[in-house]
This record gives sequence, C-alpha cells and structure tokens, in this order.
Amino acid sequence: MNVAAVNCTERLRSRWRVTLPAMPLHLDTPLIESHPLSLASGRRIFLKLDVLQPSGSFKLRGIGHACEVHHARGATRFVSSSGGNAGLAVAYAGRRLGVPVTVFVPESSTTTARMLLARENAEVVVHGASWQEANDLALSRVGAADAFIHPFDDPLVWHGHASLVDEVVAEGLTFDAVVVSVGGGGLMCGVAEGLRRHGLDHVPIVAVETTGAASLRAAVEAGELVTLDAITSVATSLGSRRVAAQALAWTQERPVHSVVVSDADALDACERFLADHRMLVEPACGASLALAGAPHEALGPFERVLVVTCGGATATIDQIRRWARSEPGSDL
Ligand SMILES: *Cc1c(COP(=O)(O)O)cnc(C)c1O
Repeated sequence: MNVAAVNCTERLRSRWRVTLPAMPLHLDTPLIESHPLSLASGRRIFLKLDVLQPSGSFKLRGIGHACEVHHARGATRFVSSSGGNAGLAVAYAGRRLGVPVTVFVPESSTTTARMLLARENAEVVVHGASWQEANDLALSRVGAADAFIHPFDDPLVWHGHASLVDEVVAEGLTFDAVVVSVGGGGLMCGVAEGLRRHGLDHVPIVAVETTGAASLRAAVEAGELVTLDAITSVATSLGSRRVAAQALAWTQERPVHSVVVSDADALDACERFLADHRMLVEPACGASLALAGAPHEALGPFERVLVVTCGGATATIDQIRRWARSEPGSDL
C-alpha cells in the first residue's frame, strides 16, 4: 500500500472509532401487535419479540453488553455457570468478539444444552450434581484476566436489558403495563431501568413466575430476600432460588404486580404461541404469554399491554408436550 492509501486508511480507522458506536451484539427485535392474543384477552397485546435474538432469548442484551464492557477492559476469557440461555448468550458473545468462553454446567444439564453450547465454540466443563457445585468450581477457576458473567445479578446486565424499552419507546408505542417473566429478576431490573430512563415509572410491571419457581413472590410477601428450598417448576429458566436484591428493591419503589401462573398454563401458552405466531418459546416465556391467552384478572383495567416475549432456546416441542402430558389439569 502506498503512503497516501495508508494515511487514508488510518484516517478512516480513527474516524470509525470516534464516530461510530460499536455494533451491539443483540438485534433491535420486531414489535408487533398480536391479533390472536388481543382478541383472546379483550385488550390490545403488543409483543416485543426477543425470541428472535440470535442466541434465542433477551439475555443477549444484558450479557452481550457485559461481555463487551469486559472485552474492552481487556478480559481474555469469559466464564459462565449457566447451562441455559445465559450461558448461550455468553457463548454467542464470546464467539462474536473472538474471546474464548468456558461454561461450567452440572451433571444434570441436558445434552441439548451441552450441544448448543459446544456449537457456539464454548468449552463445556461438566461438574457436580447441581448448579451450586458447578458454580462453585466456576468461581474457583476465574483467573485474573477472566471475566465471570453473572446470569442476572449485575448492573451491567440490567443496563443492557434496558435497551428493550428504548427500542419500544423509539417506535412510539404507548402502553399501560409491561409483562415480564421473572427468574432471578435481571430482566425485570432492566425493564424498570429502561422505563425510568423514559419517565415511565408510573407504568406497572406485571412480574410473572410459575408455581415452584416463585422467588420474587416469596420475597415480596416476606418483605426481604427469601431462598426457596427447591425449584419444582418445569420453567427451568425461571429457576433461581433467590432473586437479585435490586429486583425486590424495585417492588418497593414503583408499581410491580407479582403474578404466579401454573406450569400447565405456561405450557399451554407455548403451544398456542406456536400455533398463532409459528415461533417456539420456553415455558419461562409461556408464563408471560399465559396472561394474554384469555381475559385475565392480573391485567385488570389495562388496555394496551406490552408483553416481553423473552424466548428461550433450550426446550424442544417434544419436551414441552411431554411436560404438558404429565401436568394435572392439562388437556394434552
Ligand atoms: C433467564 C430467562 C428468564 C428470566 O430472566 P431473569 O433475568 O433471570 O429474571 C425468563 N425467560 C427466559 C427465556 C430466560 O432465559
């Protein structure tokens, strides 16, 4: 290359660096009105389709952001202890950023989860009977140049999740409630942060959990953080035994309505969403969609409801149907 060309390239490079924001890892997902759900629930239902994120769930927003920040600070490896959508988001972000990823998962993790992680080039270390042991080993293996990426309890993650609200507001949609599924509460914290940024603190968050994974409900009732003895719901992505302290704090600062639905209703909503919109989501997401499948008291007087369609990549339709068959009260 001649000198002029080199100078030109340098100029473009520095211009690029200064004026162009780094391309985020997540997509600006479609926002649609669900005509079938609007008809069924008797109010207008809008869906933010984070099921379409490349890693399969909204988690890429916050985790992608956390990975980008750690990458910029010089981290040379990302470590996760999630065999679910959080681990998949870390693996995807690592592959895109060219940073090696190690995910520690328990022996109870599914072969599907391990296959999905391996397909994203992550190193998968199988250890221990439960998540606790896998996580303990992960933490003990985090080196000085590594970044441990928490699935939900990290302000960087919340900050990234908040982009979901930015996108909805930028489209000019007005809504009088937002429905979100709650596991550890990271998504809820991000949505609350995004609503605050846009002066929407008065818009209630309807926080949905399933029976057997209702750690936010337990905390709200006790007025303090509660650690559940066990997770018994099939909505494994909601299976955090204890929520982030910030999730409980939001319930004390702004309107948050805690709702608990059955596994059967969450599974039914997955099946129905597949029929209505031709997309497969996990029961963790079905829990939120369940509120819109019929007139539901939890949506009370709300007329325009935004449902965060959080997605999830780890359940197959066969698995969802098997779970539904073993559920009492299910039609399947
Ligand atoms: C992680 C996850 C949730 C719950 O998110 P938290 O931030 O843990 O509350 C809900 N749905 C899906 C599909 C998830 O992967």
